[in-house]
Formats: sequence, structure tokens, C-alpha cells
Amino acid sequence: LQDKLNTAFRTLKGKDRISDINVAATTKEVRRALVDADVNFKVAKEITDRIREKALDRKILISVEPGQMFVKIVQEELTELMGGQAESIDIKGDPAVILIAGLQGSGKTTFSGKLAMMLKKQGRNVLLTACDIYRPAAIEQLKVLGEQIGVEVYAEPDNKSAVEIATNAIAHARKTNKKIVIVDTAGRLAVDEVMMREVEDIKKAVKPTEILFVVDSMTGQDAVNTAKTFNERLNFDGVVLTKLDGDARGGAALSIRQVVEKPIKFISTGEKMEALDAFYPDRMASRILGMGDVISLVERAQQAFDEDEAKRINAKMRQNKFDFDDFLGQLQQIKKMGNIKDLVGMIPGMGAAMKDLDVDNDSFKPIEAIIQSMTKKERETPSLIDGSRKKRIANGSGTSIQEVNNLLKQFDEMRRMMKKMNTMQTPAALKKAIR
Ligand code: GDP
Ligand code: MG
Repeated sequence: LQDKLNTAFRTLKGKDRISDINVAATTKEVRRALVDADVNFKVAKEITDRIREKALDRKILISVEPGQMFVKIVQEELTELMGGQAESIDIKGDPAVILIAGLQGSGKTTFSGKLAMMLKKQGRNVLLTACDIYRPAAIEQLKVLGEQIGVEVYAEPDNKSAVEIATNAIAHARKTNKKIVIVDTAGRLAVDEVMMREVEDIKKAVKPTEILFVVDSMTGQDAVNTAKTFNERLNFDGVVLTKLDGDARGGAALSIRQVVEKPIKFISTGEKMEALDAFYPDRMASRILGMGDVISLVERAQQAFDEDEAKRINAKMRQNKFDFDDFLGQLQQIKKMGNIKDLVGMIPGMGAAMKDLDVDNDSFKPIEAIIQSMTKKERETPSLIDGSRKKRIANGSGTSIQEVNNLLKQFDEMRRMMKKMNTMQTPAALKKAIR
């Protein structure tokens, strides 16, 4: 029993503690961080609800740094929500056709050039197609990019429709042995029926192997709505998130993924042709969390909780008022944190020492039963417990008078030890010892 009490006491002193109280507080902080990173509020709430469950569910919430452990859970959850793995595009076909859609200024033309260059570097024969016929400068822009990267650009005079150009481009690709056709389309400043219909028509005409929706990450919440509309009309295969070189924190990636359930396949991080990356969910999760930010935030929340709790217990100990109710509360917390053996094993230096000890959650049952059989007064003032009360408590808890005696004796020793610590140490040092 002494060992069990010691264990409980050590855990009580340990700073490595997460209870559902601070999980709740911490979760709230994380939610705020997500919204700050442009994650849609509803999505952020769904995510943090899940994270909360996971954090409470995961039995071993005790680790060297609980704050970091919590961040790890959040990081894992975000990564998983964004698809876990990087996803590739489908370039099988004769030729494969990649249709690029999105609002004006989102970065379609720039991305088309980047993708063409990337595929060319992989040794593929690519044709770029200029279907943005509304702005003469747009065709010119693609031609300039094409020249720069050494990829042919297919364009036609402006009396042709975008659908005709796209169709002709594919015939041209077959003739000239191009294996991949990238179709750059026109966008509007906002979702617009004419534009939508045109891109739908192009889709019908060329039957793309891959439709990529391009969206500016700086547009925050709007990005989600745009993605939703385009997906309803085009049922696209993947998302390209652009302008991540700016200070956008990437929350759009998470919201879009959650709302349209399509993978993000590329991220664009600059105006230069080289600034293209595959999308790695884990990296984006780190970016969204701003890693350092969230760690310190979580740790602050953790610390605030620990300090409050430590102060409360500390004060009680100082006044020698640490009672059976406090003790019971601590036992219940320990149980909530999971298997006591695992728990103890994770306290640095304790693992080996406790290895052979027979401690499990069940060993606390008689202790709990005894305390629960005490009246409120008895819990607060154990010295009240005389012979007849002991008998009543033993009967009520299904234990023996001897077991009740043992617990009272151990508890008394523990309190005496606490008192000794109080007189020996300055409050600051004591506080440290308890935290
Ligand atoms: P489109 O209208 O969708 O074809 O968009 P553009 O490709 O013409 O790009 C619009 C503007 O955004 C241009 O000035 C591009 O140089 C710029 N741009 C595109 N992608 C990125 C990016 O990833 N980062 C930055 N900083 N600028 C970009
Ligand atoms: Mg363009």
C-alpha cells in the first residue's frame, strides 16, 4: 500500500499531467489557432472536437512533454484529414489531358507553365494549350512561359471558341507525338455562369484524364466556397493551392479538403517556374499549426492549469489540509490518465524501478471504496475515525478493519511528510517540487 500511495503521490507531484480540464482549455486554444490560420470555423470545430476525443481517449497522456504530445495528436489529426500521403496526377492516356480551372488571377497560367516544365524534366512530351481567349495578353503570357521552358504552346486566332481550340489541340498533340496536353482556361473574378458553362463544355469535349482546380490560398474563407462551386460543376480530381509563399497560413488546404473531399495535389510557392511542390499533408499540418506557435500556446495552457492545480494542492498541504477528498480526486485523475503501470513507466527513472511492482488500476479499488465509505467530515478530518467508524467503513467498503487502518496510517504518514516538506523548504522551492 505504501508503494501505491507513493506512486499516487509522485504522479500528483509530476508535472507530466493532462486531465480533461486542460485538454478542454488546450483544445479551445488550438481551435482559435486554426481559425487564425484561415480554417473555416465549422471545420475547425469538427476537427478540435475529434482531437479532444482522441486526446482523452489516448490513454497515455503522460509523456516527457505533454504539451508536445498534445501538439503531436493535433498534427497527426490534421495530416490524416488532409489525406495522409501526397497524391499524384493521372498522366496515362493518348494523350493524357490535364484541364486547369479556377478564378482569374488564381495562378492557372503560371501553374500550367510550372506543371509543363516539371513533366518535361521527367522526360515527357508536353503540349500547352491557350484557351483563355478573352484576354489577348493571356495567350501571350502562356507563349512567353512556353518559350522560357521550351514547351510548345498551341493557340489559335480569336474567332475560335475555347472548346474548338481544346479539341484541335488534342488532334495536334496526336500528330506531333505529345503525350500530355495541359489545357489552360479562362477564369473570371468571381464564380460566373458563362465561365462555368464554358469550362464544362471543354470538359465534355476533351474528356480530361485529370481536372485540377487552382485556388489562391490568400483568399481564405472564399477559397472554400469557390472550390465547392467548381467541384459541383466539374467534379474535379485535385486542387492546386497557390501563393503559399505569401503569409497565408494554409488553413484553406484543410477547409477545402474537408468540404469538397478532394485531395490537394500541388502547392505553388512563387512566380518562378521552379516554385512548384507536391502537396505533403504533414508539412501543411505543421504550417497550419505554425508549429512553434501552437507548441508554446499549448504549453502555456498546460502550465496555467498545472499552476492552478499545484497552487490549490500546495495551499492545502501548507495548511496541512490535504484530505481524503483531495486524495480521491488525485486517484481518479490517475485512473483517467490510463494504466498506472504505463504511467509510472513513463516517469523518467521510474520505469526500471517499478517494473516488477504489481500495480494496476484495480489496486486502487479498495482504497477508493474505503474513502467512498467515509462521510464528508471523516474525509476532511481523518482523526475523527475511531474504532466504531472504522468498523462501519470496513463493512461499507467490503474491506477489513486492518485495511482501513493501513490506509489511515499511510495517509497520516503522507501528510506528515508533506508537513515536513513545508517546514524544510521555502514556498518557491516547494512549488517547484510539487509541479
Ligand atoms: P490566372 O489568371 O489564373 O491564369 O493567374 P496567373 O497565372 O496569370 O497569375 C496571376 C498572378 O499571380 C501573376 O502575377 C502571377 O505571377 C502570380 N502568381 C501565380 N502563382 C503564384 C504563386 O504561387 N506565388 C506568387 N507570389 N504569385 C503567383
Ligand atoms: Mg491565365
